[in-house]
Amino acid sequence: MLWSTSVLSTLSSDTEPSVVIAFDSAKYLFNVGENTTRSYLQSRQTWRKTRGIFLTSISTQRSSGLPGLLMTFADAGRSQVRVTGPSGLLHLIASMRRYTYRENLDVTPSEVPLVSDDQPVYKDENITVFALHINPTPEESQDNGHSKVLLKRKRDTSPERPAKRGSNNQARTTPEPEPSLSIEELMERSDFDPTSLKGERAQAWRRHIVKLMFPATQVPQSIDNGDKNQKGKRKGKDRDNSAIKPSPDEPPNTAYVQQPPGLKRPLPIPDRSSVGSPDQCLRPTLAYAVQGPRVRGKFDAQKAEALGLKHGPLRAVLARGQTVTVQVDDGHGNLVDREIKPSDCIAEGTLPGVVLLLDTPTLAHIPSLLAGFADGGPFSKYRQLNSKDHVVRVIHHLCGDGVLEDERYKSFMNEFGPDVHHLVASRRHIPDPVTFTSAAYSQLRLNQLDSDVFPIPKFTLSAEKPLEGVVGLPAGTRAMQAGLSASIHPLRTPAQDENARKLDLFHPAVRSDSVVKLPDSILSSFSRARAVVQSFVSDPETDKIPGKDVLVCTLGTGSAIPSKFRNVSATLIHIPKYGYLLLDAGEGTWGQLVRKYGRDPSSSSNVWQMLRELKCIFISHIHGDHHIGLPKLLAMRQRLDPPTKEPLYLVANHTVFQYLRDYDGLETLGLQSGSNNPVVLIPVDALHWLKSSHSEGSNRNGSRSWYAATHADLCASLGLRSLQTVDVEHRTLCHGLIIKHADDWSVAYSGDTVPVDRLVQAGQNATLLIHEATMADDEAEKARAKMHSTVGQAIDIGKKMNAYSTLLTHFSARYPTMPQSMLMNYEPGEPIVALAFDHANVRIGDMRKMHAYMPAIEQNFTELDDDDAAAQVAEVDIT
Ligand SMILES: [Zn+2]
Repeated sequence: MLWSTSVLSTLSSDTEPSVVIAFDSAKYLFNVGENTTRSYLQSRQTWRKTRGIFLTSISTQRSSGLPGLLMTFADAGRSQVRVTGPSGLLHLIASMRRYTYRENLDVTPSEVPLVSDDQPVYKDENITVFALHINPTPEESQDNGHSKVLLKRKRDTSPERPAKRGSNNQARTTPEPEPSLSIEELMERSDFDPTSLKGERAQAWRRHIVKLMFPATQVPQSIDNGDKNQKGKRKGKDRDNSAIKPSPDEPPNTAYVQQPPGLKRPLPIPDRSSVGSPDQCLRPTLAYAVQGPRVRGKFDAQKAEALGLKHGPLRAVLARGQTVTVQVDDGHGNLVDREIKPSDCIAEGTLPGVVLLLDTPTLAHIPSLLAGFADGGPFSKYRQLNSKDHVVRVIHHLCGDGVLEDERYKSFMNEFGPDVHHLVASRRHIPDPVTFTSAAYSQLRLNQLDSDVFPIPKFTLSAEKPLEGVVGLPAGTRAMQAGLSASIHPLRTPAQDENARKLDLFHPAVRSDSVVKLPDSILSSFSRARAVVQSFVSDPETDKIPGKDVLVCTLGTGSAIPSKFRNVSATLIHIPKYGYLLLDAGEGTWGQLVRKYGRDPSSSSNVWQMLRELKCIFISHIHGDHHIGLPKLLAMRQRLDPPTKEPLYLVANHTVFQYLRDYDGLETLGLQSGSNNPVVLIPVDALHWLKSSHSEGSNRNGSRSWYAATHADLCASLGLRSLQTVDVEHRTLCHGLIIKHADDWSVAYSGDTVPVDRLVQAGQNATLLIHEATMADDEAEKARAKMHSTVGQAIDIGKKMNAYSTLLTHFSARYPTMPQSMLMNYEPGEPIVALAFDHANVRIGDMRKMHAYMPAIEQNFTELDDDDAAAQVAEVDIT
């Protein structure tokens, strides 16, 4: 029996710490921050045997990768997964109901009861898991710079919903209507307001929604008091439905169409007393103790033979720990009894190993953590040295600012004795190397083609304050780095995964301090491309291109799920002198932004400054690859200090808003009126291009509607004449966007769609069309079936639109690098066409240059596209 704990991802610019505990028969994942799915792909670890997911907190830091991972599990044929976490877990999963659902996946959520006791929160043949609640203490918070937030939040008349949804406040005092009806009956009524539900009835509502999302789910055997009224029985739990594998091209979840009306209503409001503060740093966390099995020592057959214990059932009795008696010759021909004890021929076994995962986001959490491990506390047993029941091997420390250097925390670490390995994730104390090294290595090569267009992502190889410089840490303390793995049985010192190290071509290249040596064939294609560019770069016509300095940064250019070189959808537009506009925000968008702008506080162009200047986010539709990154982005924006009063306008449809409002009940995203760093929601319909009222800023009778006024404010913030939406045709409600700037340039964005004439009309004469091109031209049928466009169709839309240039994006993971046959011939008068690449910076005035680079880029990729990682995901498509 082998088991180990390994770091799938760590605290970095684009990931949060996730730990995998692996046995031969199953794996267990601890925390699912953003980019967990992509981390699996990069590390080439497989998720296939994942049986349980454990969350230390319900927050964008710890759980915002959950929807993406669950859908990936389902599409890859994984059939059952149990998710354990603190209060709020059911609300979190239910909040994803408009876009996360799969018929073939059994998701069993289990909220850990608030009262800790000695009962395990999970147990199977491999592990027994215990949980400890860690609650922040308000007094500590005041020393921690969080005091104002905490006190203010305490006075909040939460729940945090926009003011115009004021009925929620009434709901807190109004008794629930129709208490006699069952949850199922209430769910069928379109006029029922679920926000009136409280306590166990509210939980039952959420649980019912989770079952609708994942119909394969058996009745959840919840330990959060259970739903006493459940009529269903837990049956067939051991049923092996791993054979149920959806076709990758089948649209998911046909059952979802018949969902009851209640599903479209808002969720019950989370009970603040159980889910904790809306500030993710100030909410309670769970610490986990994962105890492995006791491993018996080896049976020494030679010794047994010598003692006279022959092959047979007695050996099994002995192996079970009992003393046996055999008859042996006393040397004189007489048979005498001989007692054989297990220790006579069985080597000493090993105690169950224990792995601890401690999540301490602030100094305010330390007293509660220490109390849990103190004498009489539920976890005191893990502090005892020389325990006869178990032995602590590895402790993963997730430390917020200041925690690691706190004297109480350091002496706590030292209490575990000298043999324990401490793996620490603490922002100041560990380096921030690139996580997705395959993509970064490709970028490093393309950097030699054009360093402005292909900048190298931001990273640091040394910590701000390395662990060695922290006085008083135990000897076995080291940085928690991705790929670090510790075998618990057999026992081995933590070591970096050799395969991961070999796969990383990026860091050896940047460490060497010399440029990557590229093959001559690539260098010469780079030179040819640059020569072509040279031939027109001084063309005076280039200077006349309107909006030539407007920068388009394609942060994520893949579709459905991340692939080796492409993250999911997000395109950032920078309008000089005004600010930023973000088109879609798939999972990991925050990470892409941090890698682009960096967190260096001394830089005036760091990611925080970018967030301040982010004026508008447009979300085309509710598919996960376009909006899952929103909560993290908005939660990080809440941290702007000092806060900005300038609003961020969020243009999206009502399903996206509903998701955010439900989520905002758990963790504040700035949606409430009057909040710091406020977010203003504008429904896509209000800005529809065929409605004229908003575009002029006032309606005919001269009085400006709220939408018209807001549209005017939004346009003013970016210097736009108009910002309009166009309904396109996709498998769900989806919109494109047209922005027209006062400086006479315009950008049209397609969202996900088949080719549509409406977009052509609305975007006529666009300076730049950004169009999805999910499939290559030979997959036209498949593109149609999935309501996407092919490369050729997208180019055609640009021609019909009379666009100056067309940038293609949103490529299927079928094309890990770029769709083939992309060597387009530019005919004067036709739109200039180029493909988008993650992290590329393309000015509108540089589109011709980008077009000229295409053959060189394709050449670069032909030598990188060397393995099966992309093929593995190409079978899955969730858009
Ligand atoms: Zn889509």
